[in-house]
Amino acid sequence: MMAESNSVKIVGGGLAGCAAALAGLRHGVHPTIFDPARVARHRVCGEFLSPEVRHSLEWLGVWDAAEAWAPALMYSMKVHFGRRVCADRLPEPAIGLSRLRLDHLLREAAIQGGCGYVAERSSPHPRCILATGRQATPPSGDRIFGFKAHFSGPVGDAVELYFGDRFYVGVNPVEDGITNVCGLAPESLLRSVNFNFEALFGLSPALRERTEPLTQNMAWLTTGPLLYGRTKQPLDVYAAGDAFSFIDPFTGAGMLNALESGRMAGAAAARAESPAAYRNTLSKRLGRPLFMASVFRKALEAGVGQILAPWIPGRWLFSLTRLG
Ligand SMILES: Cc1cc2nc3c(=O)[nH]c(=O)nc-3n(C[C@H](O)[C@H](O)[C@H](O)COP(=O)(O)OP(=O)(O)OC[C@H]3O[C@@H](n4cnc5c(N)ncnc54)[C@H](O)[C@@H]3O)c2cc1C
Repeated sequence: MMAESNSVKIVGGGLAGCAAALAGLRHGVHPTIFDPARVARHRVCGEFLSPEVRHSLEWLGVWDAAEAWAPALMYSMKVHFGRRVCADRLPEPAIGLSRLRLDHLLREAAIQGGCGYVAERSSPHPRCILATGRQATPPSGDRIFGFKAHFSGPVGDAVELYFGDRFYVGVNPVEDGITNVCGLAPESLLRSVNFNFEALFGLSPALRERTEPLTQNMAWLTTGPLLYGRTKQPLDVYAAGDAFSFIDPFTGAGMLNALESGRMAGAAAARAESPAAYRNTLSKRLGRPLFMASVFRKALEAGVGQILAPWIPGRWLFSLTRLG
């Protein structure tokens, strides 16, 4: 039997928590995940996996299982600002796989690998891995909400982003010929269209044209309010994923950050590295992407992003919002 000192408690069994568990197992510790949601479910997410995710999943030993679901591949990005389109090839193909499948396969891989599982909520305790996702505290002001649904119909091989006035929507393929449509908008704008997402899409002619031939095959899911940036957490834990920081979803880097920070947290806890040392290393890797995402968001809010963005190479923006 493993010694108590060899065990690691992981609070939250999403992407970051499961990556931490798989990394911990590789480093010879006995992790236990606490998460009340035992069965994977649909989540509000664009389901765009940055190309580097393939390497993370390979390292975690789940790439073959992910590939067996025949994820969609995306070779380029098309960013629409009104009628202006900024298109570029991606450095490597990006991957489209639904969260229902991805969360399930990571969770099962961790449990089959020997990770314990307790279907309960938990509070953080010293030296645990904290992977509880986004901060729930509602910000004041015009709160931002996310929404997502799956559609069938014409499938593309690009990730498409449509920036409208105060909102944006991503359209990209996932497995089984499904198209994910996912976006973000402030509460005041959603109220003005009575939370009718088709009416919202009508505010952008290019988005309306893209979504018109699609047939919705699941009810809209919503989440929020969303808070960007670093999350306040106790100093004596290894915080990973959105519990460490939440990057603006237009970057398509949140899941990559969750998998990589989870992997780092699992290794740091197994080596009994201090939480402060772990936090410094992770902050260095995430500093640039978080900063660039906030600069771009502020430019969009100020109305200058739409003017500048068509002149900025998409590849450049893409690489600057990836962790170092
Ligand atoms: C609208 C939107 C679109 C997005 N699109 C993309 C995209 O296209 N590409 C991309 O890479 N990223 C995207 N993201 C970001 C991505 O979804 C997140 O970065 C990712 O889910 C973070 O994973 P996580 O493991 O940190 O948190 P989560 O996946 O949120 O997992 C947290 C887990 O913790 C559990 N939990 C919470 N509290 C407790 C507790 N007290 N005790 C025990 N368990 C607890 C929850 O049940 C949950 O299972 C998007 C996000 C939003 C909001």
